[in-house]
Amino acid sequence: MRALNAVSGRAQRRFLRPRRVKKLSILGGEPTVFADFLYVINELDKNWKITVTSNFDSPFFEQDIGFFKQIKHKARLRFNGSLHFIHTPLEKFIANVQKLKKAKISVHTLFLVAHPACLDKALDYKKRLLQIHRRVKLQRFLGFHQGKLYPGQSGPNTGKEQKDGICDYGLYQEGFGQKQAQAILCHSDKVLIAPSGDIYNCHYKVYTGHKDRLGNLFVDGVRVRIPRGYFLCQDFGFCNPCDSEGHLFKSLRGETKSISAV
Ligand code: SF4
Repeated sequence: MRALNAVSGRAQRRFLRPRRVKKLSILGGEPTVFADFLYVINELDKNWKITVTSNFDSPFFEQDIGFFKQIKHKARLRFNGSLHFIHTPLEKFIANVQKLKKAKISVHTLFLVAHPACLDKALDYKKRLLQIHRRVKLQRFLGFHQGKLYPGQSGPNTGKEQKDGICDYGLYQEGFGQKQAQAILCHSDKVLIAPSGDIYNCHYKVYTGHKDRLGNLFVDGVRVRIPRGYFLCQDFGFCNPCDSEGHLFKSLRGETKSISAV
């Protein structure tokens, strides 16, 4: 917690420059199953604006309303819900969303994945969720289903409401198809922190515990240098579909490539 709050120290006003809002997204897996989840939320100092993305289906949500009163600084905390309807009954999800709202904790957006295997169900559930919440979004499925990388240029979830921004499907298959690695120059502004404190700039590197880490939050603290501009990566081909948005690439010959409209 000291390491994370040291990062928030950068939010201090310097000379006449305005204070920068520090934003933290806590994701999983499912973050609320972490035994000290409540402690983490409460110990993050008040400079952080926190978004927790949860499946609303863990023992954390089985607590009574009084439990949620222990959460400090509610104004800077919000939850997004992600309904995994294959595992979580819809009524349970709805009850937990309502419980959080009753405890005066902000619920921002509810998401459903438009998985090609259950698209009709996702559309039905979306209608039901809209009866209890204003912001409900379908997310296009990014990943493999029956050996095929989605989304493709055409197919069951093409054109569903939440545009994923992919505009070059050929490049998407080449970079995210998990077939063959090639060297590329990659541009990413992401800062991803693994539970170990290791810091990376893309999901592929987090998930594989890649040697190309930028540093470790517990060792290097706020002194980690985040690369600006393009940097050389040897693993284009195994990029994670979660990173298909917002990344820019350049071939080693200097030709700029973009999968999504950025
Ligand atoms: S694996 Fe892909 S997204 Fe990650 S740094 Fe390399 S090229 Fe960029």
